[in-house]
Amino acid sequence: MDLSDYPLELPEGDRPMVRFMNVTKRYGTLTVLDRLDLDVAEGEMVTVIGPSGSGKTTVLRMLMTLETINGGVIYVDGKPLTHMEKGGKLVPANERYLRKARSSIGMCFQHFNLFPHMTALQNCMEGPVQVLGMSKSEARARSEELLEMVGMIDKKDQHPSRLSGGQQQRVAIARALAMRPKVMLFDEVTSALDPEVIGEVTNVIRQLVAEHNLTMLMVTHQMGFARDISDRICFFYQGKIEEEGPPEQLFETPQKERTQQFLSAVK
Ligand code: ADP
Repeated sequence: MDLSDYPLELPEGDRPMVRFMNVTKRYGTLTVLDRLDLDVAEGEMVTVIGPSGSGKTTVLRMLMTLETINGGVIYVDGKPLTHMEKGGKLVPANERYLRKARSSIGMCFQHFNLFPHMTALQNCMEGPVQVLGMSKSEARARSEELLEMVGMIDKKDQHPSRLSGGQQQRVAIARALAMRPKVMLFDEVTSALDPEVIGEVTNVIRQLVAEHNLTMLMVTHQMGFARDISDRICFFYQGKIEEEGPPEQLFETPQKERTQQFLSAVK
């Protein structure tokens, strides 16, 4: 497919919140995503599982626009994320366009990357004030509401070094939400945590799923957690979706042999 074959915008009535359309990503000669098509509907929670190296994290990194795209187009809320219009057709987006597009994507990683010299509250306020141009009072009110939601309001004046891993991760979730993203990405958010604090982070994500109509894409090795909270599971194999479906179906009656092998190995 040529770039001129892709729509400048997705038509009304066919606008998932996220659409990967024929997306290819290569590192040198290694094809990591191979003409990937993936939709995430508004309000849907989709979890990507699969063997190490199958391209799960790359899917999230593409949405964060941290990687150049080698083929295809990604749309968010119907508009191209990776491309911009020029003379009536799509061309790869420039840095300025990408910077703006990026603010529609919220992300939480394995390593929380909070600003160490700022308190929990300042961490949450920084993006809304600096990037969105929100007033300090509005940003403070919004950040306090979110810190309350993740159970961290009592620690709002603490610096990250005074917080446990689980607490830092909860602040990182509040900080991402403070930007009012259209899509939230979670990449192995519990894998760097001590086992006893994993529950406090998964419970926050559970609560987001239950109470907020957020569109979320998650990568995790925690199959039980993925099964509990996802609307759909995508099993990745060599940069493609090998099999996908509702959690009960995928975990209980996987159709493909590779899915069956993977699931029996991780159980
Ligand atoms: P997963 O998250 O499923 O473990 P990744 O998306 O991280 O897989 O990686 C997919 C493949 O791409 C792996 O083979 C990995 O080694 C390769 N890869 C990832 N990032 C880079 C990079 N920056 N340069 C070269 N190869 C990379």
